[in-house]
Amino acid sequence: MSDINEQQHVPDNSAAVSHTLEINVAGEKVQFTVPVPSGPATWDDILPFMRALVKVGSDISQEYFAERGKPVSCKAGCGICCRQRVPLAEFEAHRLRRLVDAMPEPRRSEIIARFQAVEERVREARDTIRLDAVDGDTPLSLKEMAQRAGAYFRLMIPCPFLENESCSIYDERPLKCREYLVTSPAENCAEPSRLPVVGLPLPLEVSMATLFLDQDPQDSGIRWVPLDEMMSWTDSHTPAPPSRSGSELLHEFMSRLMRPRT
Ligand code: SF4
Repeated sequence: MSDINEQQHVPDNSAAVSHTLEINVAGEKVQFTVPVPSGPATWDDILPFMRALVKVGSDISQEYFAERGKPVSCKAGCGICCRQRVPLAEFEAHRLRRLVDAMPEPRRSEIIARFQAVEERVREARDTIRLDAVDGDTPLSLKEMAQRAGAYFRLMIPCPFLENESCSIYDERPLKCREYLVTSPAENCAEPSRLPVVGLPLPLEVSMATLFLDQDPQDSGIRWVPLDEMMSWTDSHTPAPPSRSGSELLHEFMSRLMRPRT
């Protein structure tokens, strides 16, 4: 992405503001209309736009690599990647918690029991592998994030939302899950230490940008909530109340997305 053009339209009833953004995605100019609250807003109000950005970037990249003989090999019913540790921004963790809380019984209890079982396995594993921090409260460097992700994946723990090797919350799956696709043979994903796994490169790092939102500027690393710790993390953290307008949040997100990784 190299540039953004923006127009703003305030309708007469002014409960919402509509922004028209023209974004250069991997050389293609794509226009987005982004309605946001004119008053206090939350990151959930920007989430539909974030998801749209992931989809556009993924579609453009898939087409580019398919034309060059490297199509995406991911298929329905292959859930190996759903044993990876999924990083969530804080607002995504709170959103997933609300999703679980709103589930009817007995499904809600089943999902909660799966989260508890995963946390138990991770606790046991901490004695033998380097998986020793509650990551949601500990700023980590990108290298530390990668180390913990590798250790977690070796445990081969299915995501609590994985059922019959498919995502049971597909429409609400996190941004990181939407971004993850591979062009290497699907069977390689089960043995990444022995066989090469090639992820689909994306022109926009949307989920990574969200991890930096609302971060303490004094932090030397990134705070993120592992999906597997989502239930216990949200037990002890409450969502921040809306304090900025939708336009302010949209501008902060775009500015983070445009900034190179630190
Ligand atoms: S949320 Fe869905 S897509 Fe993401 S890891 Fe879990 S099962 Fe897989």
